Order: sequence, then C-alpha cells, then structure tokens
Amino acid sequence: MEPSELRRIARTLSAVENQAEGYEQHLSEAYRLKRWADVIGITGPPGVGKSTLVDALTAHWAEGGERVAVLAIDPSSPYSGGAVLGDRIRRTRSAAYANTYFRSLSARGHAGGLSETAIDLVAVMSLFGFRRVIVETVGAGQSDIDIHVAADCTVVLTVPGLGDGVQASKAGLMEIGDVFVVNKADTPGAENAARTIENALAAAYMGGPGINTFDVKPGVAARPSSPGLAALRRRHGEPGADASTWVPPVIQVVATDGRHVADLAATIDRFVAWNEESGRRTERGCERAYAQIMRALSAALLAPYTRAPGATQWPEPVRGWIDRIADGEASPLEAARALLNGSRR
Ligand code: GDP
Repeated sequence: MEPSELRRIARTLSAVENQAEGYEQHLSEAYRLKRWADVIGITGPPGVGKSTLVDALTAHWAEGGERVAVLAIDPSSPYSGGAVLGDRIRRTRSAAYANTYFRSLSARGHAGGLSETAIDLVAVMSLFGFRRVIVETVGAGQSDIDIHVAADCTVVLTVPGLGDGVQASKAGLMEIGDVFVVNKADTPGAENAARTIENALAAAYMGGPGINTFDVKPGVAARPSSPGLAALRRRHGEPGADASTWVPPVIQVVATDGRHVADLAATIDRFVAWNEESGRRTERGCERAYAQIMRALSAALLAPYTRAPGATQWPEPVRGWIDRIADGEASPLEAARALLNGSRR
C-alpha cells in the first residue's frame, strides 16, 4: 500500500475509534457493505504466542497475495494507533509485505465500549479491501472483550503445561473456540495438551466423560482413534461431512518457525467455508446486530439521564426523583417507570 493509502486508513480508523467528526458516515458505509472481510479471532492467555502466531499467519496469507489487516487489542496498554514500538518488534515476518496493515487498540477510553469499538473498526477495515482481518485479544474471562461475536472463526491458543487445558476451560475459552491450537509444539507435553483439549471437547460434544484414545499428529486436525468419537464426528458432521455441527479440531503448531502454520491456515479456511455453508455466518451476524442495536439503544435511551463525568449537578430529569427517593417518598422503580413514560409523551 502507498503511504497515502496507509494514512487514509489510519485517519479513518482513528475517527471511528474516537467517535470524531464524520465517524457515523464511515460506519454507515461499512455496515452497508455486502460483505465484510473474513474476521479471524485469535485468543488465549498472555504468553502463549498469540502475537507470534498472528505475525506468522499474516505473513502466510500476505505471501499468497491477500490483503490482510491485524487489529491487536491490548487491554493493558495505554497506547493505540499502532504507535507502540512493540508492534514493530512483534511484526518480524509480516512487516515485509506491503499488503498488510497493523493496528493496535488500547483498552482505555472508549465511549461505546471496547468490544463495540473493535467491531466497528473491523467493519471499517472492510471498506479498504482487506480480505481478512485478524483480531488478537487476551482470552475471555481475563477481560471483557467478546470479540468472538464478531469473528467468523475464533482460534483459541494454548501451550503445553498450562494446567493442561484447565485454564482454558476456566476462562470460558472451550465454548468459543472453532479451532484449537497447541502452540510451542517444539516443547515437551504438546501431545498431552492436545489430548486434554480433545477430551474436553468430546465431553462437551457428547455430554459425557471424555475419551482418552486419540491419535494426535502434529499439524493435523486430530483424528480420533476411538470409535465413539468417530461416530460423534459423523453424527455432528466432521468438517466437510453432511451434518450441521462442527467439532473443533486441535492443531499443534510452532509459531516461531512457522511449522504447521499453513495447516492451521487451511483449517481456518475450512471452517470459514463451513460457517458460511451451514448458515451460521448469517446467524451469528444477526446475533451480533441484535446485540449492537441493544447497546446503541440503551446508550441513546440513557443519554438524557446520565451524569457527565465530573458534573456537580444531577441531570435535570432525574434530580426531582432523587430528592423524593432520598426523602422516602418514592421508589427507584417508580422513578424509572415515570421517567420512561414521560419520555414517551
Ligand atoms: P502473546 O503474549 O500470547 O502474544 O505471546 P508472544 O507472541 O509474545 O510470545 C511469548 C513468547 O513465546 C515469546 O518469547 C515467543 O518467542 C515465544 N514463542 C511463541 N511461539 C513459540 C513457539 O512456537 N515455540 C517456542 N518455543 N516459543 C514460542
């Protein structure tokens, strides 16, 4: 991309992030697109290699000629706008490709909420012709980011020895993963970690205890050697079969040297295709739209009654009610109902 285009993208994203002048127009255009970029969410606890893997995946797709954007959400960072030195260090491979774009988003100061801002940024990135947007976040349960509602494919990362997957289940990651990755497969215990996840998935999908016999090969979606799980996959439609459920595969990769990253990319593509064919992409899109309308609606409804930060006065419509409640003359529920009725009149 030319520097002028990069500047245009950065300006547009900043306007949306800060809800600066003109941002509504960008959103109107983005949400009218017939199709967004495929959104790939990469999530997992700190240190499992998310950044390294995102860099490797970006390079992989960019090498194939695709335009790829990355949105890295850093709940702890006060910086944003891709200005952090760390971003450049993390992008050791993908930065070589002119068809890639990197943006980080800090957790601080988003009027509409962090997830909301992230979804809007993804939408707007689609205006610039990206074929894919990779969203990198710290896993659910450790932050309030539920970007997976906007992802067409959510990839959950873990590593050998991380409490053998217990951490993932605790953090609520088992439920959101479409594809599971055991990264750092060059370190001991990768097979065990993969089996543990397979067991948890088997338990979740069969509603019973896990099955212990799996034939997990590095880089390959784990194949069950147990007849039980094989039947389960037939029933639930192992990817490509005729059923309507996807049983998430578990893939072992080495993000640092790119081993099996191509297999992972192919699996993500398989999921994205299944997601579309099964109608789940549309279904999720509707769920997302509903949640977004609800959030926008509650923000708009509450606006007249909401105290501005640092304000010394109660907002006009609620002031009288606050006094009456304080004097023991009304209940908060009565106040809320009366205010709602008043706003309809
Ligand atoms: P993040 O916090 O999840 O984004 O993790 P990073 O991508 O920053 O990686 C954390 C550390 O793990 C870094 O020192 C990486 O070099 C290292 N790392 C990432 N992937 C691998 C891998 O496949 N094998 C090994 N041995 N180390 C890795």
